[in-house]
Amino acid sequence: MPHIDADLKLDFKDVLLRPKRSSLKSRAEVDLERTFTFRNSKQTYSGIPIIVANMDTVGTFEMAAVMSQYSMFTAIHKHYALDDWKLFAKNHPECLQAGNVVTGEMVEELILSGADIIKVGVGPGSVCTTRTKTGVGYPQLSAVIECADSAHGLKGHIISDGGCTCPGDVAKAFGAGADFVMLGGMFSGHTECAGEVIERNGQKLKLFYGMSSDTAMKKHAGGVAEYRASEGKTVEVPYKGNVENTILDILGGLRSTCTYVGAAKLKELSRRATFIRVTQQHNTMFS
Ligand code: 5GP
Repeated sequence: MPHIDADLKLDFKDVLLRPKRSSLKSRAEVDLERTFTFRNSKQTYSGIPIIVANMDTVGTFEMAAVMSQYSMFTAIHKHYALDDWKLFAKNHPECLQAGNVVTGEMVEELILSGADIIKVGVGPGSVCTTRTKTGVGYPQLSAVIECADSAHGLKGHIISDGGCTCPGDVAKAFGAGADFVMLGGMFSGHTECAGEVIERNGQKLKLFYGMSSDTAMKKHAGGVAEYRASEGKTVEVPYKGNVENTILDILGGLRSTCTYVGAAKLKELSRRATFIRVTQQHNTMFS
């Protein structure tokens, strides 16, 4: 008989962070940098732990050049030619280039078998259609809370990947225990993204697509294989100008969150976080 899991599982949109007494006078006092030493490789990382997703449109060299100025990094997509990589590495040695890590329910098993950082997220992405095509998924806030708990018990780390639609969601992901937050849609539509600005009916737009959308498949693999449903969509998003504006919006939002809950450092945010369950609202970025 199929099993029904009746435990409450929540998404970012289902909760708010409860404000708490705070001695912080200004959000400028908040420190967003974190330092981690990874369990298995013993490598050390320092920076603001927000990552641009390794998607064609947003994971570009242009994006990495700007993000690195803010101590954030970009998971550069894998479709650049080797010569492009060489040139970029020569001009931007400061950019830390992160490879992709697996998504898994079995966080503990993966960490014990050698992984340092586990990417968490099944189906929450803004251009991901896994949930509608397959019915498979896991509400992201609960996934992060549960996986962070498992990972941290073993001194491992997690990335919350997908589902953030606004700076408040990024704060909720960190509040839930994410060590890193990966963003695709929130960084789409900028000058630094791949593709031209499209002008239509007086509106400026840019293309953004999932890495298993028809668009990506046609570009990289000569079309979607028949047996495999495409689990990503293609959308036109409003052109948002330079990514710097969005970066400042996210960092400003995070600093304010920390001030509201009395966390002097991003590191303290999850310890200070109490989530209040709120009435469900519909809140997808590209519906
Ligand atoms: P977003 O920040 O846009 O909500 O989510 C970004 C994440 O969506 C990416 O890091 C990646 O894990 C996921 N993603 C990107 N493209 C696709 C796709 O075509 N299909 C699925 N299932 N997920 C995708």
